[in-house]
Amino acid sequence: MPAAITDTRHHDAIVIGGGLTGLRAALAANGAGADVAVISKVHPLRSHSVAAQGGINASLNNNKGEGEDSWEAHAYDTVKGSDYLADQDAVSFMCQDAPRAVLEMESWGTTFSRDDEGRIAQRPFGGAGFPRTCYAADRTGHNLIHTLYEKAVQAGIEIFEERFVLSLAMEGGRCRGLVALDIASGEVEAFSSKSTLLATGGYGRIFSRSTNAYINTGDGAALALKAGVPLRDMEFVQFHPTTLFGTSILISEAARGEGGVLTNAVGERFMSRYASKAMELAPRDIVARAIQREIDEGRGQEGGYINLDLRELGREKIMERLPGIRQIAMDFAGIDPISAPIPVQPGQHYSMGGVACDVNCRTALAGLYAAGEAACVSVHGANRLGGNSLLETLVFGKLAGENMAMDSAAASFDDGAAKALANSEQLRLKEIRSTQNRTQTSKLREELNRTMFTDFGIFRTALRMKGGLAIASNLANKGESIGVGDKAKEYNQALIGALEFQNMSCVALPICMSAIAREESRGSHYRTDYPKRDDLRFLKHTHITKRAGEHALTYADVLLDRWPLEERRY
Ligand SMILES: Cc1cc2nc3c(=O)[nH]c(=O)nc-3n(C[C@H](O)[C@H](O)[C@H](O)COP(=O)(O)OP(=O)(O)OC[C@H]3O[C@@H](n4cnc5c(N)ncnc54)[C@H](O)[C@@H]3O)c2cc1C
Repeated sequence: MPAAITDTRHHDAIVIGGGLTGLRAALAANGAGADVAVISKVHPLRSHSVAAQGGINASLNNNKGEGEDSWEAHAYDTVKGSDYLADQDAVSFMCQDAPRAVLEMESWGTTFSRDDEGRIAQRPFGGAGFPRTCYAADRTGHNLIHTLYEKAVQAGIEIFEERFVLSLAMEGGRCRGLVALDIASGEVEAFSSKSTLLATGGYGRIFSRSTNAYINTGDGAALALKAGVPLRDMEFVQFHPTTLFGTSILISEAARGEGGVLTNAVGERFMSRYASKAMELAPRDIVARAIQREIDEGRGQEGGYINLDLRELGREKIMERLPGIRQIAMDFAGIDPISAPIPVQPGQHYSMGGVACDVNCRTALAGLYAAGEAACVSVHGANRLGGNSLLETLVFGKLAGENMAMDSAAASFDDGAAKALANSEQLRLKEIRSTQNRTQTSKLREELNRTMFTDFGIFRTALRMKGGLAIASNLANKGESIGVGDKAKEYNQALIGALEFQNMSCVALPICMSAIAREESRGSHYRTDYPKRDDLRFLKHTHITKRAGEHALTYADVLLDRWPLEERRY
């Protein structure tokens, strides 16, 4: 028997996640006087936020001569891009706050690219009526997160890195803290808090062919599900049109924003058939489907890809604005985009669905908050526009931190739940470590990845999805009794892999169930058996809640208070 855990760490506010959302929230909570800690399963600078390439949207209006941009225009583009499933109060709040959020990062030290007059440069992005994406070459996330990390260190915010959060502690209908595994030592630790934020990022790695970091395994959604908190709109999974063929490394939308064109095997700029006005800069769901159609109907290159041609941009522009993209193409495909097109195919990229929360980032469980890619607030609805996710992390990260600080002032600690949970989690981990492994976790994970990509991919049908759900359920059952047979306490990566697989398989089920139930096509969710949007039946958010081992599916209204429904044309 391991020794009983009797110690508990205390923080008014605990932020799970060291990405942009988590760091921005921690700074806000700290600024509002709360004692805050950040817990992250990797060093904060290894969070997926660091990989963001193309930029962040704000109606700064720096492109004079292109017309007048405004937060309302930004919000309208976002609502239309979402296929009218975004909540318009959340969208308005985000777009109104965007210029402030970007200028704040600039004042804190983020080095943005500049236009000829020294203002923050803005480039065109998909689905946007104006060039409103602010960028730092093609390394925007890198620059933003370094700024926030430096600020967090400067503010003396305590950061627990390489801690894997295992579960949330609850007592009296409130979240009271959490239990985490210290990956380095193998010790289980209890954390007591008055408010806790899920800023755990997306769940892209449930799918094969994903642009996401390996750590994006949906742990936050799994934590919420286990705690009885609903997940919202999980069927909406974004497939990015352009990932490097064979490796799935993202080739940023900035490449098309700067003028790159897509061509099929006969050299045709095929987007004219799918979005005759916006062409390559139609929203991602539309471009991804167009590319997949070209490939499926035999107009792709041999092997199944199409070409992204940047040659017209010329050496100077590529070197200045897309240096990272050029490097990726050279290192991973042996192609220099200055002289040859890049082979691309669509790949999983972003999780529109997530932990259901209100416009103040509060979830259905008192004391528990959600923000960033882990959450569904919902600003992206059925399809996210490029550049809006980095924005969401900053705007809602800040709001979550402020609200946590405010709510914590009126709450008190209760250590009992976290301590009891720590002891039961310690036993659970011991069991996983000592059970002999009959099926390798990696094999289970591969099967889940393949199933989700083929059966819940760009084009979906009832038949395929039902088959996929049966496989995913079976895998989730196997996950429950998983064992790794590696008894090591320190840095037991097999154990982490097993815990992540449990989370991924448990989050896969709500994706499958929500997708099967939505008998229409909207945004990223495209059903060849129901190819039309059906506002009468499905202008609704899907909620999945797990209680006593059973999943319940319910629907909730979408808030449309400003921009009326339209057919989406580009
Ligand atoms: C390649 C790529 C490029 C992108 N480019 C852009 C772009 O140009 N513009 C744009 O708007 N969006 C872009 N996005 C999307 C955007 O980067 C992300 O949505 C956003 O950065 C997510 O930030 P986050 O803080 O919510 O989560 P993340 O940055 O993913 O951070 C999640 C954090 O949670 C922690 N965590 C997770 N589980 C646990 C656990 N169990 N225990 C402890 N800690 C845990 C992790 O350690 C990590 O610190 C891109 C995404 C990708 C994949």
